[in-house]
Amino acid sequence: MDQWSREEAEKTYNITTWGEGYFDISPDGDLVVKPSNESKDIILREVVEEMRAQGVSLPAVIRFHDVLRSQVKKINLTFREVIKTANFQGKYCGVYPVKVNQMREVVEEIIDAGEEFNYGLEAGSKPELLSVLAYNSNPNSLTVLNGYKDEDYLTLALMGRQLGRKIIIVIEKFSELPKLLKLSQEHNIKPLIGLRGKMSIKSRGRWAKSTGDRAKFGLSISEMLKAVELMEEHGLKDCIKLFHFHIGSQISDIRTFKEAISEGARIFTQLYKLGCGLEYFDAGGGLGVDYDGTRSSSDSSVNYTLSEYVADIVYGLKQVCDIENVPHPNIVTESGRAITAHHSLVVTNVVDKISVTQPNYDTSVTEGEHILIENMRVMHSWVMSEENYQEIYNEAIQIKEQSLSAFNLGVISLKDRAKLETLYWQIIENLLDLCRKMEFVPESLSELENTLSPQYLCNFSVFQSAADHWAIDQLLPVIPITRLNEKPTVSCSIADITCDSDGIIDKFINRDGITPTMAIHELKPEEEYLIGIFLTGAYQDVMGDMHNLFGRLHEVHVYGDNDDPQGFYIEEIIKGNTASSVLSTMQYNPEYMAQKMKKSVTKIVSEGKLAPRIGVRWVDFYEDCLTSYTYLKN
Ligand SMILES: *Cc1c(COP(=O)(O)O)cnc(C)c1O
Repeated sequence: MDQWSREEAEKTYNITTWGEGYFDISPDGDLVVKPSNESKDIILREVVEEMRAQGVSLPAVIRFHDVLRSQVKKINLTFREVIKTANFQGKYCGVYPVKVNQMREVVEEIIDAGEEFNYGLEAGSKPELLSVLAYNSNPNSLTVLNGYKDEDYLTLALMGRQLGRKIIIVIEKFSELPKLLKLSQEHNIKPLIGLRGKMSIKSRGRWAKSTGDRAKFGLSISEMLKAVELMEEHGLKDCIKLFHFHIGSQISDIRTFKEAISEGARIFTQLYKLGCGLEYFDAGGGLGVDYDGTRSSSDSSVNYTLSEYVADIVYGLKQVCDIENVPHPNIVTESGRAITAHHSLVVTNVVDKISVTQPNYDTSVTEGEHILIENMRVMHSWVMSEENYQEIYNEAIQIKEQSLSAFNLGVISLKDRAKLETLYWQIIENLLDLCRKMEFVPESLSELENTLSPQYLCNFSVFQSAADHWAIDQLLPVIPITRLNEKPTVSCSIADITCDSDGIIDKFINRDGITPTMAIHELKPEEEYLIGIFLTGAYQDVMGDMHNLFGRLHEVHVYGDNDDPQGFYIEEIIKGNTASSVLSTMQYNPEYMAQKMKKSVTKIVSEGKLAPRIGVRWVDFYEDCLTSYTYLKN
């Protein structure tokens, strides 16, 4: 076994950078989780073992609720500190946008950890509003309401106002305002209103469409002024409490924030001077996560720290307010991704290896062999004597293409084709071996490593557990959770168990940037190999779909406990989907299906074609499978 140092593992997988201090490698090569400053290291492998002992199989989502709490504390304390240092007069009144992860347990944990900071919630749809109304009962924290609103949405918000909650209805579209004013008169409840500005700054990267003239949300400058006039006509100008903008998610370049803050601060101070009762400056979400650990402005990274982001908001806003002689407002942000990404991960097991090369077919010379086979054999002998590699490579590819045409025309047989392909792959493998020993690999041969790389087939669905990897090329850290003290000798990509050829992970980060394969260990016979997909707590957890009817994963909620020998305990287990539960969502009736199967079996039995004892066993087995987990059994 090749020993490998912690430093080398760290360099290969960037764990401490994307891990933000929550993940590390133990001396034994295990991935460990450090849920908070005070807690003992938790060995992820031991969590999986404990799960198994409690009847939870893989794949599974593991949530570390302490990480969620730590993130809530971190953002609030950072704002407090910077606000104090800057001598800023307003307070920080953050809200968590529930769309990023609506799981009840996640929302409850965030509310609980944020209580001492009066940390609130944000909703963007009617169902989300129904949940935040029920769950945010703290009269001192904000509830910010975004998204498109119908009368029911607005009425629910007014109901919340009546209950004394600090609910701010953000006007995204001018037509919402007359509707709201009518309802507010009908119910005789004064609303708290926010105006969402359509920012002119160009956001960079993936969510660039969130800003500019064609942005989907927000009011133009003239609409904002009309809104103020309309409110004035109703004598409600002082109800305009908040100015809001949101320039997109995962903002990777700090310059985008700086520009948005200066534009936003100017709009804010001008609106203030028009006599609105503005008290809150809401800079929306966008605080990014360094998924690839490169600390860069690439789409999956960020080129700034939390402290820099906070300082840019506080000092940027202060400067403009001081120049314009406007009192410092309270600051609201709506960070979701940065709060939730780190707390959850998916653990899956490798079930097989898919190789490009095939078992060798007998390639010995036979009489009257086709010329294509003879030619391929010549290339094979040349590569053995280490002649011009590039020429051999090009020639071998050409012969392979010709042999395919020959096969399609009926010129060569199935056996000939097997012979040709065996020779071809032996040539390629030899070339790869030679390339690995070269100082300088010719450009055309550099692709060989990826051409020949196997895929590790893992027990999960990309569409359920890493939807953004499929949809928008989001990089997520994917790494083995054991054997990190052994040198990984295989380069491979990851395939999932859906029948979809898009169900793969083939973008990884390493020292040289983005690569189609990751460094991984050779599988050992009879030994399970576990892979973690990290930072799945934001969006991924809740965006998964039912592709191939795999459905939701088993889930365990883990808390750190320093008095426990292993440093943790599993607080809750939520079972994933069974076959019958996913079938039911597609309108099937599993009971009816089982009955139909039973009828078919009974018929065969009554015809004397099957022993009754075996018939009963088949029916039981079918019913068992209906009530089992949708993923591969392990
Ligand atoms: C999605 C969304 C957020 C959350 O953004 P993150 O980048 O995840 O922090 C905040 N505010 C609004 C209005 C949103 O639509």
